[in-house]
Amino acid sequence: MKIGNLVGLVGWRGMVGSVLIDRMQAECDFDVIEPIFFSTSNAGGAAPAFAKNETTLQDAFNVDALKRCDIIISAQGGDYTTAMFPKLRASGWAGHWIDAASTLRMEKDAVIILDPVNMPVIQSALINNGKNWIGGNCTVSCMLMGVGALYKAGLVEWMSTQTYQAASGGGAQHMRELLTQYGTLNAEVKALLDDPKSAILEIDRKVIDKQRSLIPAETANFGVPLGGSLIPWIDKDLGIGKTRDESGWGQSKEEWKGMAETNKILGQGEGYGSKAIPVDGFCVRVGAMRCHSQALTFKLKKNVPVADIEAMIGADNAWVKLVPNTREATIQGLTPVAVTGTMTIPVGRVRKLAMGPEYLGAFTVGDQLLWGAAEPLRRMLRILLQA
Ligand code: NAP
Repeated sequence: MKIGNLVGLVGWRGMVGSVLIDRMQAECDFDVIEPIFFSTSNAGGAAPAFAKNETTLQDAFNVDALKRCDIIISAQGGDYTTAMFPKLRASGWAGHWIDAASTLRMEKDAVIILDPVNMPVIQSALINNGKNWIGGNCTVSCMLMGVGALYKAGLVEWMSTQTYQAASGGGAQHMRELLTQYGTLNAEVKALLDDPKSAILEIDRKVIDKQRSLIPAETANFGVPLGGSLIPWIDKDLGIGKTRDESGWGQSKEEWKGMAETNKILGQGEGYGSKAIPVDGFCVRVGAMRCHSQALTFKLKKNVPVADIEAMIGADNAWVKLVPNTREATIQGLTPVAVTGTMTIPVGRVRKLAMGPEYLGAFTVGDQLLWGAAEPLRRMLRILLQA
């Protein structure tokens, strides 16, 4: 049966939601749907100018209003999904739920959507009446868009990833906090910066004093200063259990997602009757605005020449771009500043490591708000409308 085109949009004003709306406009998605805009904070207000027949914001906590939709796309966040999704399903709603939040990702009846990488997994779920389509963790999705070819070729024995994740990964308020901190730090030493003869150690001391004395309101989102610093912990603390499987063995939730989601997206590991590929490393928040970057270490199952690996990666999808492993190409093309706002997923620094010929290094950058969040959602919408 053809799926209807009444599409509820929840969370369209947030960081992911705004990027999603931009992309939907750019790809003319609104031409093929009738959108209903929902709000958790301004029900009854005016929907955005490009709304069609439904020009008033609906209450995102009203099950009856949500039930009208054939498809709901939520970029509102995990708390909202936890609160509303079970109620909606309990009310008998049998529509399609597309979500950016992690809440439902590991549920048995949910598919983690990244169609350039796992279209067969999506298609098989569609045939089996799947209704829950969840966007993957942003670093995992960007990583697989970049180096998915190595997994598809069955070459990866294990992978370790060290991430450099942007402030926008936390949402709109986190970006504002980072920029405000940069402004505060700059203001603190502006007079000294303007004087070319001022002592650099004096500037340095004033900056660190200011960072250490920021008031709680100035670090409300990250908890500690991020401007001019970094935070080697993202998401919840899973604690330390007796076994690795029990509670992550000292991992952060973001680090745990690396292995769990990579394997689920690929249709591999527990639940698919095969062995999961180990993926582990450290996830670090840095003071970038947008784009998650990652240094990857692979143990390959066999020694494959770098040129073959590069050819494989470069041919995998229309968005991945090989960056030659030279200083100039790297600093020009493999940074958050170069990649932000683009759909391109550059992969560079591809080289064999000193540990042996099966050890491969690579570095990749992706706009986590595009391939890591908004894009798989709108592409799933299109897949459903064409089903
Ligand atoms: P966000 O920017 O905080 O937006 C979420 C909601 O916050 C908005 O829909 C809006 O709801 C409300 N809000 C409150 N103050 C706001 C303000 N000043 N500006 C805009 N919105 C404001 O969160 P997000 O980063 O988009 O994340 C949404 C979900 O996507 C989360 O589950 C997150 O884990 C997931 N995700 C995020 C990323 C990322 O890179 N940020 C990547 C992948 C997945 P109302 O309009 O109803 O008030």
